[in-house]
Amino acid sequence: MYAFEMERPTTVDEAVAALKDEDAQALGGGQTLIPTLKARLAMPGKLVSLTGIDAIKGISKDDAGRLCIGGGTVHRAIAEQGDFPGLAGLAARIGDPAVRNRGTIGGSVANNDPSACYPAALLATGATIVTDRREIAADDFFQGMFTTALEEGEIVTEVKLPIPEKSNYQKFAQPASRFPLVGVFVAKGADGVGVGVTGASEGGVFRWREAEEALSGNFSADALGDLAASADGLIGDMHGSAAYRAHLIKVLTGRAVSAAA
Ligand SMILES: Cc1cc2nc3c(=O)[nH]c(=O)nc-3n(C[C@H](O)[C@H](O)[C@H](O)COP(=O)(O)OP(=O)(O)OC[C@H]3O[C@@H](n4cnc5c(N)ncnc54)[C@H](O)[C@@H]3O)c2cc1C
Repeated sequence: MYAFEMERPTTVDEAVAALKDEDAQALGGGQTLIPTLKARLAMPGKLVSLTGIDAIKGISKDDAGRLCIGGGTVHRAIAEQGDFPGLAGLAARIGDPAVRNRGTIGGSVANNDPSACYPAALLATGATIVTDRREIAADDFFQGMFTTALEEGEIVTEVKLPIPEKSNYQKFAQPASRFPLVGVFVAKGADGVGVGVTGASEGGVFRWREAEEALSGNFSADALGDLAASADGLIGDMHGSAAYRAHLIKVLTGRAVSAAA
């Protein structure tokens, strides 16, 4: 590890001010960023830890019935809440206990790893990402692998998710990393059906709109019929070809619908 400065503010305003320094970077649970620093893939001069800000931790419901999760809330807490079982199931299968005890939803969505689990749920439910300066719809937030709508120094303070009537997340885990080779989150809510797919595309997380359409009239795995996910633009690597990932998308979507229904 190389030498860097460290600050641990206790309010969002202090953190935003600290992040104005050139070469400063936010630190959430450190489950992605610290290994990145160790590998010298990033070398910020200052880390601004968000772990001392109580205002961005915790889970509640707003007047619209949405689940409101502070950006500094760890995966374990999300796995333990009972209001949104589909999301709890997703969080319970992230990494291992150490990762779930430290890693945060804010860090996960800000990082937007192409195999991260939450982005699939956020797209499928039509979630809103709240930052220190604005609210961003999930459809506008995720903009490609490791790319989001966040500006320099912008902090994810909260994620608001409409709670669907039915939902489920199916993850085909890559056994070494525990990240999904492909993950599919299916949500059936008042506004229709959402299908978010992670791990599969070179463009990052995406909505499988053809499946959403097929399922909105008939929420059963049979409704997927002959529908096939296209392999165009999907990731092909030593773990699985693009065609294999396309196959997994269809299989996991069907399983998620059956489990949710
Ligand atoms: C062994 C292992 C297995 C894993 N398996 C999975 C898995 O199956 N599924 C999955 O989804 N993830 C998995 N992860 C990743 C894990 O979920 C991380 O917790 C997450 O990607 C990053 O969250 P963090 O709080 O640790 O963020 P950090 O590592 O601290 O930061 C990550 C990035 O986000 C920025 N950041 C952090 N917090 C905020 C914020 N509130 N606002 C704005 N920017 C912020 C940082 O500057 C940095 O760029 C795994 C990680 C490990 C080590």
